[in-house]
Amino acid sequence: MAQIGRDVWQAEKILLHGGLVAIPTETVYGLAGNALNIDSITKIFQVKKRPTFDPLIVHTSSIEKAKSLVVDFPPMAQKLAELFWAGALTLLLPKQLIIPDLVTAGLDTVAIRIPNHPITLQLLTRLDFPLAAPSANPFGYISPTKPTHVKQQLGDKIAYILDGGDCKVGIESTIIGFENDQPVIFRLGGISVEKIEQVVGKVKVKSHSTSNPQSPGSLKSHYAPIKPFFINDIKPLLTRYRPHQIGALVFGEYLKEVPSKNQLNLSVAGDFIEATKNLFSMMRQLDQMSVKVIYATLLPEKNLGRAINDRLRRAAAQ
Ligand code: AMP
Ligand code: MG
Repeated sequence: MAQIGRDVWQAEKILLHGGLVAIPTETVYGLAGNALNIDSITKIFQVKKRPTFDPLIVHTSSIEKAKSLVVDFPPMAQKLAELFWAGALTLLLPKQLIIPDLVTAGLDTVAIRIPNHPITLQLLTRLDFPLAAPSANPFGYISPTKPTHVKQQLGDKIAYILDGGDCKVGIESTIIGFENDQPVIFRLGGISVEKIEQVVGKVKVKSHSTSNPQSPGSLKSHYAPIKPFFINDIKPLLTRYRPHQIGALVFGEYLKEVPSKNQLNLSVAGDFIEATKNLFSMMRQLDQMSVKVIYATLLPEKNLGRAINDRLRRAAAQ
């Protein structure tokens, strides 16, 4: 059973030997392995039961190291990296040959990020290779934002979980690629579209396609609890289930249709940052409640509300 601890040296040792370690980041916990070692990468896909067409994000600790992994780092990428790294932003850039095709699912771009978490930055600084790290959950399930989430689901498959506490952002990174030198958002995430647009002007958002060859991992159904999950209209649910059989995830106002003990509030005050931080752990809590189905209200379609709604829609797309 995986040990949860704060020993960076222990994590380093496992990674140096090609093993996997769960690492904290500000977005979600990652399942990390040497991004340049095919055996380690293979283990990541096996442990997560992740299909190999879904590429991995490569984590590093400096812009200089990131540059050594790509053949081109355009001025726009430089600007975004300087402003948002370390942080919840992933850049898609043309990869160097040293990045195995398995990491990128055969694509010629690699996804790179500098995560903003002191213990993981310390680890990355000590290593002379980058870490490939998808979220540390079984493929398709809700991403982990606490060490115990990782232990519950992958505890029998890995040896060590580096404890960095609760994830401060709580949702995956915003993924940005470039088309004709213009930035395009391929996944909504921890840095809002508004924040990005303040820096680079209007950006295209292409995060909803299921068949987008540039971002094959942007699967429509994802981040899903095991229980049936619904959004939009609660009325059809009320004809099929008794109110006490419905669990609800709300934002600000509680629902009058469902008993209050069955409702979790992402943020009573209607705060997007608080809601983002609570999202995945509340989805897990609802999955464990004695209810038959889960209903979630969508947030206002702005700021981090957009990224939260993206995850709620994917969770409901089964
Ligand atoms: P996760 O690490 O679980 O957050 O998933 C990583 C996601 O990053 C994938 O599902 C893809 O959507 C995206 N991604 C990673 N690498 C690439 C790439 N080279 N091109 C496009 N999207 C990528
Ligand atoms: Mg994931």
